[in-house]
Amino acid sequence: MDLVVVGSVGLDDVETPFGKVERALGGSAIYFSLTAALLTRVGFVGVVGEDFPEEGVELLKARGVDVRGLERAAGKTFRWSGRYHEDLNHRDTLLTELNCFEHFSPKLPDDYRAAKYLFLGNIHPSLQLDVLDQSSASFVAMDTMNFWISGAPDDLRRVLARVDAITINDEEARDLTGQSNIVRAAREIHRLGPKLVVIKRGEYGALIARDDEYFFAPAFPLEDVVDPTGAGDSFAGGFMGYIARHDATSWAALCQATIAGSTLASFSVEAFSVDALRSLTHDQITARAAAFRRLTDFPAIVL
Ligand code: AMP
Repeated sequence: MDLVVVGSVGLDDVETPFGKVERALGGSAIYFSLTAALLTRVGFVGVVGEDFPEEGVELLKARGVDVRGLERAAGKTFRWSGRYHEDLNHRDTLLTELNCFEHFSPKLPDDYRAAKYLFLGNIHPSLQLDVLDQSSASFVAMDTMNFWISGAPDDLRRVLARVDAITINDEEARDLTGQSNIVRAAREIHRLGPKLVVIKRGEYGALIARDDEYFFAPAFPLEDVVDPTGAGDSFAGGFMGYIARHDATSWAALCQATIAGSTLASFSVEAFSVDALRSLTHDQITARAAAFRRLTDFPAIVL
């Protein structure tokens, strides 16, 4: 096992200007694992309730995700509901029900514990700590969101102090640090623990910062964005999947991983829920990564 993820597994109700879905497959660990599995072997840690459709588990298996760390518990599956504005960069959360995640106590299979790369997906920081305590990973990245920044700030700070990297969106970076300037916010987050800060900016791309080095990748320009849900987790899946596939965390590899993240996220948003990821192929992602290079590559400028 190269890469392990813990995160939410949910049934989402989502409404965008282009339609809506109910009880659709979602959750941070779902988007992460479906994208990362295109690049490396992924071990999945999470919990579902009795109402979770078997089809969801079958999809993970069919895409090569290792589900030995996925538990089925009594009670209901995690539920989340959101509505996007005309401007898809903004959404309102209408409902968050933790359900079976409230009493979840993750237990990692032995080979998961030894995996070199670990991603603590968006979920209660105390669960992120539980998984961290069981892992001997040498590179750990985390994600979080406003819900936990305001709801579990102390646990969140404990996780931050122990990870190598964080992926976070610009609004959350501001909430976490009180800094409205994104470069200052990244610097502030460095002080809380993670040496590498990845700030996701929706349709405006992603910025990575380590010490005084920065790299920026735009979002891939798409004509049809249908549902941005899971874009951040798909980005993280591409990012960590790339790092694990190449077993490299040099600055060059991190920049390449950022492009891999943007590439995977661009597929995820083209359909509701995980629909665009169900049959996505390695050839398709390779072709889009090549188009990405043409989009952003330019000859040296002589002024
Ligand atoms: P993203 O669009 O990248 O923020 O990810 C959206 C996914 O995160 C949805 O599929 C939700 O099920 C899941 N989600 C929403 N709120 C939470 C939360 N508080 N904790 C864990 N997962 C969440």
